Amino acid sequence: MKILKFGGTSVGSAQSISTVIDILKKEYEVGEKPIVVLSAMGGVTNLLSAMAEKASRGEDFTAELAELETRHFDMVRTLLSVQNQNPAYTRLKINFNHLEELLQGVSTLRELTAKTKDLILSYGERCSTLMISKIAAQYFPEALFADASELIKTDSDFGHAKVNMDLTELLIKGFIQENPNKMLFVTGFIASNEAGQITTLGRGGSDYTAAIFGAALNAAEIQIWTDVNGMMTADPRMVKKAFSLPELTYTEAMELSYFGAKVIYPPTMIPAFLKKIPIVIKNTFQVDFEGTVIQHHCKASSLPIKGISSISDISIINVQGSGMVGKSGFSGRLFSLLAREQINIILITQSSSEHSITFAVNPHDSEKARRVIEQEFELELLANKLDRPDIEQKLSILAIVGENMKQTPGISGKLFHALGRNGVNVRAIAQGSSEYNISVIISQSDLAKALNAVHDAFFVQLNKTLHAFCLGTGNIGTTLFRQLNQHSEFLQQNNGIQVKIVGISNTRKMVFNSDGFSLDNWQDDLEESQEKADLGSFVKKMKEMNLPNCVFIDNTASPSPIAFYEEVFKSNISVVTCNKIGNSAAYKQYKTFRDAARQHGVDFFYETNVGAGLPIIRTLKDLMSSGDRVMRIEAILSGTISFIFNHFKGEANFHDVVKLAQEKGYTEPDPRDDLRGTDFMRKILILARDAGYPMEAADVQIESILPKSCMEAQTVDDFYAALKQEDAYFTTLKEQAEKEKKVLRYIGKLEDGKAAITLQMVDENHPFYMLSGSDNIISFTTDRYKDRPLVVKGPGAGAEVTAAGVFADLINVGAN
Ligand code: ADP
Ligand code: ASP
Ligand code: MG
Repeated sequence: MKILKFGGTSVGSAQSISTVIDILKKEYEVGEKPIVVLSAMGGVTNLLSAMAEKASRGEDFTAELAELETRHFDMVRTLLSVQNQNPAYTRLKINFNHLEELLQGVSTLRELTAKTKDLILSYGERCSTLMISKIAAQYFPEALFADASELIKTDSDFGHAKVNMDLTELLIKGFIQENPNKMLFVTGFIASNEAGQITTLGRGGSDYTAAIFGAALNAAEIQIWTDVNGMMTADPRMVKKAFSLPELTYTEAMELSYFGAKVIYPPTMIPAFLKKIPIVIKNTFQVDFEGTVIQHHCKASSLPIKGISSISDISIINVQGSGMVGKSGFSGRLFSLLAREQINIILITQSSSEHSITFAVNPHDSEKARRVIEQEFELELLANKLDRPDIEQKLSILAIVGENMKQTPGISGKLFHALGRNGVNVRAIAQGSSEYNISVIISQSDLAKALNAVHDAFFVQLNKTLHAFCLGTGNIGTTLFRQLNQHSEFLQQNNGIQVKIVGISNTRKMVFNSDGFSLDNWQDDLEESQEKADLGSFVKKMKEMNLPNCVFIDNTASPSPIAFYEEVFKSNISVVTCNKIGNSAAYKQYKTFRDAARQHGVDFFYETNVGAGLPIIRTLKDLMSSGDRVMRIEAILSGTISFIFNHFKGEANFHDVVKLAQEKGYTEPDPRDDLRGTDFMRKILILARDAGYPMEAADVQIESILPKSCMEAQTVDDFYAALKQEDAYFTTLKEQAEKEKKVLRYIGKLEDGKAAITLQMVDENHPFYMLSGSDNIISFTTDRYKDRPLVVKGPGAGAEVTAAGVFADLINVGAN
């Protein structure tokens, strides 16, 4: 014997009811006559509830009543043959008339008791089940409507009635004996008390009805048919990457559903657990999908947790007072009071100092809870032994669940790391002593972000999604997008990282898309955008989108974005930048960035500030963090100047070489911007700071390559003329170097806390002698690399290598 329960969405439309009939036909064909438990049509219970509320305020409910009738009558018309329609209409109409009378009564009295409300809600299941049993009877002659309110007996706790299992079992068994060989269509959700008054089992309670029948009849299996592929790692409406779980234990399913996984009603697990009946959650809309089996023993799983669930709207009440909390008997009194008042407590935490107790309740219970606490503890309040209970609203609970948590250390560390890195403030924590569940209370506005971030952190077999906000669509920005596009598949497969570009701005326009832009035609999206570029709004929008794992990428060379870095860090968003201006301005600012990033647990990566994509900053950081000490850094960090000196030999004259460098695109429009050494100075300054020296730009001594006349020339043309004039000066330098078998090199050096950039002649023993093209080179002499320095060398300029460096930084953010 099997129990098949179909939820509201499975019986919400003609098409889905037909699918249900098809599922039943398959069972029937193999000789099964399952017990079918049905919910109200999707949305109907809410509609009934709304009508009841309206009636209690004396408001008109006829529109809703008409809607209810139409929804059912439409089904009758569509799914019943003409000769079968009339009896169904009549039975339904009788129900609707009773319902209308009831609502009229509520309206007249302006009073809606829990008892009346249950009666009103019961019409949802009664109508749907009646209707579907009639439809089913066309295919299954044994179909029989069964009103569970006559079989399930409960106490009189209307709205959440407790089942008298012994009596219920007897009644169900008796009914089956009286009706052998029938195919029962049973109303979910509803029951009755001793006096025969209708009660309900709590919202979502049709699942429970199925389990009650399953347990009473020792069913082989309880199937819960719904609109998703079984129990998933998280609510698929909130976490797009949620996936189905093949197996869960009863405890895990209970914990997940208790903390919001609505797919199954938590009490359902109890009768099934006691009788060891497996529960299978299946998808009506994807019949062949295996779904989730909930049972006693599951195969060993490598997943540290099974799932993440949440309750989106809760309130917490904080009770504290030096004279009361922690005293024996206080919490007993408090919680008995709340139980007596039927206030459901979702979660409790108590600080170890025992000065406060915090508990979570449904928001609509919060004021009542405060009131009854104030009444109960009136004397203590008056004596100032207890403070007035404090209510906080608009909070959510997020819970991670899984039996493996018990054996795996570091789970809570991972949870809090994911939350912290994403700037999610945790208000309270509770870990059940079973260790099957860790729950945190967070702000409602952070829930979606937190769920996704935590899901990414735990389900590492899935790709982690980085949400990138990119400033600058020049050479580097554009190249980065191209590289990301080319390598996205590789990244997903090998690094487990998916990068979504969710915000783009250049100096004119900006555009956002939380699903990520297609990197084939992001230009069109940006062009078509109506939003004018504005850095303040860009950052504001980035914060508002509140996405997990965000990265702010500054691919500009402008000072404007720098002013926003600190705010970005404070929003718990990592920064990746090739823009050197931030790090090379005042030391105080450099320090602020670092402190803000550290304080908020996010990354600040700027590898491309020095030597484009070459691993220079990273190497220095690794040396420093592993306890090495930098004695000396020597470097050639200007590709332009490298090019010039590498070509300034033999017959060449300096003027022509500079011109060539300019023609090849190596220099700024005014070559003096390179030759002046400012850019080089910035790089040395950043290195010095990263090596631990709190230096300012003015502390770096720069020996100019150019004679005064060249520097003072008014225009670029004048500069070239002056360069020609000074030819003798440069030729002398060159000849002297050649005579001594040396080459000219413009070298930056940091030693003993002093930084300088000087023009030097080096011989073949010097590591910089062999430098070719526009390459950069840097040598680190440290305590460990004393005899032979550590050298990094390679192309240190160009959009391709710079974008690749930004790319690498971005992936490193993803790795954390
Ligand atoms: P039914 O009407 O069939 O009883 P419900 O609406 O009660 O269906 O439950 C199914 C819904 O539960 C799904 O549509 C899904 O949005 C939600 N849900 C929440 N958490 C989970 C989860 N962890 N796995 C699957 N579904 C979930
Ligand atoms: N119809 C009821 C509800 O919506 C019971 C159920 O669907 O399980 O809560
Ligand atoms: Mg349900």
